[in-house]
Amino acid sequence: MSPPAPAPHTLQVESSESSTFKRLDLLIGDKRPVVALLAGISVVNATCEAIFLASIAQVAASLVGRHHGKNIGFHRGPINIDSPPHTILLVAGALALIRLLLQWPLSSLPARISADVQAGLRKRLFRAYVHASWEIQSRDREGTLQETMSSQATQATGGALQATTLITASLNFLIVMVFAVLLNPLAAALVMVLAIVTFMILKPMRALGAKRARELSASQVRYAGGVAEANRAAEETHVFGVGDAQLARISEFIDVTRDRFYRSSMLLKLVPNVYQSMIYLLLVATMFVIDQQTTSNGGSIGAVVLLLVRGAQTGGSIQATYQGLQQSLPFIDRLENTGKRYSDNKVREGGSELVTISSLGFENVSFEYNPGRPVLEGVTFEVAEGEAIGIVGPSGAGKSTLVQLLLQLRPPGTGRYLVNREPLEDFRRDDWYRLIAYVPQEPRLLHATVADNIRFYREISEEEVERAAKLARIHDDITTWSSGYQTVVGPRADAVSGGQQQRICLARALAGHPRVLVLDEPTSALDPNSESLIQESLTSLRSELTMFTVAHRISTLDICDRVMVILDGRLVAFDTRAQLKQSNDYYRRASTIAAGAPDGLLPELR
Ligand code: ATP
Repeated sequence: MSPPAPAPHTLQVESSESSTFKRLDLLIGDKRPVVALLAGISVVNATCEAIFLASIAQVAASLVGRHHGKNIGFHRGPINIDSPPHTILLVAGALALIRLLLQWPLSSLPARISADVQAGLRKRLFRAYVHASWEIQSRDREGTLQETMSSQATQATGGALQATTLITASLNFLIVMVFAVLLNPLAAALVMVLAIVTFMILKPMRALGAKRARELSASQVRYAGGVAEANRAAEETHVFGVGDAQLARISEFIDVTRDRFYRSSMLLKLVPNVYQSMIYLLLVATMFVIDQQTTSNGGSIGAVVLLLVRGAQTGGSIQATYQGLQQSLPFIDRLENTGKRYSDNKVREGGSELVTISSLGFENVSFEYNPGRPVLEGVTFEVAEGEAIGIVGPSGAGKSTLVQLLLQLRPPGTGRYLVNREPLEDFRRDDWYRLIAYVPQEPRLLHATVADNIRFYREISEEEVERAAKLARIHDDITTWSSGYQTVVGPRADAVSGGQQQRICLARALAGHPRVLVLDEPTSALDPNSESLIQESLTSLRSELTMFTVAHRISTLDICDRVMVILDGRLVAFDTRAQLKQSNDYYRRASTIAAGAPDGLLPELR
């Protein structure tokens, strides 16, 4: 059996330390000035702390040695102190005060950097998404985008926070150790070397942590997909009484995520804690070394021990943040990979102006979703401005696919899509969007007012909204609602019937004054009143714009000048209804049966 194909957005996470820093740069690289400011403040903070620790150790030693009131004399390398204890304590107090003041920028700068990184990641990802082709967007599993934009982005942002902590902790460690070196070079060097060796020893555990985080990220996306599906299928779940089965399925996702969360969090805690404990062992070894030295006085021993303990503590914090950073990488990678997948598949953009659409056609167009399995083959036609075209064919024949190609949601696999007898991809997208409109089979409303649903993110005046609503025969309904055009509707708003939702979608399509209107069976699931109102609306629009209608009812074809018959992905006939009755066997049989059926539905014939 051949191995399963990788998922389209399988993550390739390298766990080498160098790739960690590469991605760190990716994350906070554009925040260099703020990071530099933070680093500068950290240096001041750490220096204050190191001098503070050395000072109070000296004062403590002087008190223990009962040299109370005498000057403290301390001479080592560049450090040359000869002052009474209270002066040193005053200096220590001033340093503690400075450190207190520095805590504001030391807390606010990392928070600002990570908040900006979070917003930046989310905007970059969504920008890539909205400019990606429908082909790539439609391949996403339900809930994937929401999950990536929310929880995964939050966890990736944790990486930015860890990165800033890593910078400040590393500087703190370095400076504390520099002071320790000045006081006792041998002991400090020993601690530093051993700390680095221990850090290296723990590398496999960090890699394991990154692996566990990667698994956690993947299971969170699967869990989100399951929840999104459950939410969408809530109605059916009630009807079929399968709530408990659905709960069992989601519980499975929750349990897998829980296990991975546990394993990932455990390593996140364990590795730094192990490091910290190992460092304490090393400190004991260092104390042996200090014990062998005879040159040190009590004050400098106290200072170096205090600095080394502080260094060990900071080393532990470096290890903890580094571990956290490693475990954020899978989330950062998921965001980057998802964004790249979208931006590598942008909608194609032409440069020519498109003022109007006087003709529109396909030239030998074929299309396949999966290689070797054509869904449309050799489709050729031309439609003139103002024509109303019906599209019929059995289920699975390729009608919706044809509509997606017509809307330029998917490019033809082979062949050409011609507008005004020029290749469509040569024209500017914005011009095209202005000239084309679509009413899907299932209306999709925003949770917003009726007026905003008709506007659909476009700048459209109130008068235009009302004009479109009148054309779509929904205006009279809206005026009976208590808040009129300001009534809030939504995908699950009970106040708006399916037929009304469909007519709101028709108004949305007409509000932008399109030249081409594409409808994917607008009346298939409507009440008779809505069906006749939509039919009336479309009849009034006839010859004012070019219209394509996928038809499942014979009555939908009444307004059509010509009808396309699609069978097994081929355009087998394209003619007037009268002519098709003569020449096309499928159309003749289907229309005869539909004319005699009470619902007027075209039958599934082949
Ligand atoms: P219906 O009337 O039932 O809506 P249709 O004529 O609109 O059917 P299409 O939806 O265009 O037919 O589907 C044509 C063929 O393409 C079918 O075999 C279908 O399984 C396949 N197909 C549709 N969408 C996809 C997709 N996203 N990926 C893979 N195959 C697809």
